[in-house]
Amino acid sequence: MDKPQLGIIGAGQLGRMLALAAYPLGIRCHFLDTQAASPGGQLAPIITAALDDFEALRTLAERVDVLTFDIENVAVDMLQRLSRRTPVLPQPDVVAVAQDRLAEKQLFRALGIPTADFVSIDAARDLARAAAELGWPIVLKARRLGYDGRGQRIAANATELAAAWDDLKRVPAIAEAWVHFDRELSLIGARSASQGPIFYPLSENTHREGILVTSVAPYEDPELQRVAQGFVDSVMARFDYQGILTIELFQTEHGLVANEIAPRVHNSGHWTIEGAETSQFENHLRAVLDWPLGATDLRGYAGMVNFLGSMPSAREVLSIRGAHLHCYGKQARPARKVGHCTLLDEDKDRLLARLEPLRRLADEANQ
Ligand code: AMP
Repeated sequence: MDKPQLGIIGAGQLGRMLALAAYPLGIRCHFLDTQAASPGGQLAPIITAALDDFEALRTLAERVDVLTFDIENVAVDMLQRLSRRTPVLPQPDVVAVAQDRLAEKQLFRALGIPTADFVSIDAARDLARAAAELGWPIVLKARRLGYDGRGQRIAANATELAAAWDDLKRVPAIAEAWVHFDRELSLIGARSASQGPIFYPLSENTHREGILVTSVAPYEDPELQRVAQGFVDSVMARFDYQGILTIELFQTEHGLVANEIAPRVHNSGHWTIEGAETSQFENHLRAVLDWPLGATDLRGYAGMVNFLGSMPSAREVLSIRGAHLHCYGKQARPARKVGHCTLLDEDKDRLLARLEPLRRLADEANQ
């Protein structure tokens, strides 16, 4: 497999950045997604079809050596069927867990990874149990198809909780205790069939309305780094994992609490494109092809700002010294991730100061 063909299900910005990392390595990418003009489809051949169109998925699988995905909301039974002829990596079993918030929480518990207290909500009587067991406020999350704060409501009392579940159309959900956290962190690891796991340093992330706004790395705390690596290692070991895996964490006064896993490259690791010796995208490719994994060493402190809604002017962003601008080729839409920009610096305080004008441009474009 010296000139491998890689199939990517989902052609969003993550797929696009995988393709951008693939071409220098001689890897050819083929996408499947609903829109020809999707971020990935602007770069590489694309089959336009629904993500659960099995015939289309099979056509993609027949063209490639390995299948991966840039989104975890893919029909797992189809991935399993496809994997009989073409490897699907990361493995469909872990996708099944990552797309169901209840299964994910149960996995954390089984592996001894601390997570928020929760109650599974399948019927109205479960709401009363959640109220009795969890205290207020409660975060109600649809078990499936939630991302970037979608399918998620905060309730301060029983009336609000009932209304929140009605609002979610009474789909199977979980009620989560509110986590009083000091900050949000994430950790990304890579593992292949014959190597790893290896880890990037912790990123510190800020969110607005459930959507990532900034990531700054490294978050330097050797003890937390060790604990977080242990969490990722145990999830990876459970699935004999191949690819990049991300864990989102809350730092609390009692230590780290896991929020969720993503069996894929992650927004909080975009800074690795310029800020690490090998980016998360390249290491994902290397991992699924079982090529040697690349060093995760840093090139200083890195800060990333997401552009949500619409892109700021490229001229203005690029007038900031050292700005690494990424535009995903998307139409503007409120709260949509349309691009990001990363800055590097030897000095953390100076980096944080230099991020300010970038944040202002992002805020102005997000009006
Ligand atoms: P999620 O979709 O689970 O990643 O949640 C999106 C964001 O909502 C997180 O990054 C947190 O900022 C916030 N959040 C989610 N769950 C909780 C919780 N149990 N307690 C406090 N904040 C939460």
